[in-house]
Amino acid sequence: MTEIASHRGGAQVWPENSPTAFRETARLPVEQVEFDVHPSRDGRLVVHHDATLDRTTTGTGPICDHDWADLAHLTLKGTDGERMLLLDEVIEIFRPTPIVLRLEIKPGVGMRRYPGLEAAVVACLRDHGMLDRTVITAFPVETLAEVRRHGRPRDLIWLVARPILLLAGGLPTALDIARRFNVPRLGLHEADLNATTVETVRAAGLGVGGWAAHEDEAIARMFALGVDVFTTDRPDRAVAIRARG
Ligand code: MG
Repeated sequence: MTEIASHRGGAQVWPENSPTAFRETARLPVEQVEFDVHPSRDGRLVVHHDATLDRTTTGTGPICDHDWADLAHLTLKGTDGERMLLLDEVIEIFRPTPIVLRLEIKPGVGMRRYPGLEAAVVACLRDHGMLDRTVITAFPVETLAEVRRHGRPRDLIWLVARPILLLAGGLPTALDIARRFNVPRLGLHEADLNATTVETVRAAGLGVGGWAAHEDEAIARMFALGVDVFTTDRPDRAVAIRARG
């Protein structure tokens, strides 16, 4: 069965990565909840998409320039006064559910990896008994290699940036990189997925999933292609389309 991952907690239905989004996703018959993590200046693991605060909160500047005590006072735009959550708070929302965490380890401003973030994420998940209930994803393939040095999560998905597929060699190059870094599964943009790409990735012995399938047409295509899993800002629509069969 093709699994559904509620992207940023269902970003086109509720304010992304908000407590409301996660509580509502926890009530849906989806298999995964996707969210992103950045470190605060004092090393807390903050659930937020952008490296900076400006787009989604009342704050400004990079998350990693602020201590959590200050970040906790900021309000998420579009919410009724909600604040950002820490990783351990998101864990507690989903612990009573069968939903698997799909945690994306983000780079910081300028796409620079945060030193030690992979180790900190793995340690937090292990401390909370959630490492085997968490799929870790990242666009920088080195991030996944670093995760593996610290522990074994449920799964690892390399999110293949679209420009890689536009280069000469495209998908074969991506498969070479995946093999070199021992990545078990690729995530491709929904527009890059078709019967040929799915078959090519599977023939290389890797799993294949999609990301950014937000429109009904794209969601239906993910099910028709039978990819392993896909992320969507419309988990409500994905659930309805899957039920329709
Ligand atoms: Mg993400």
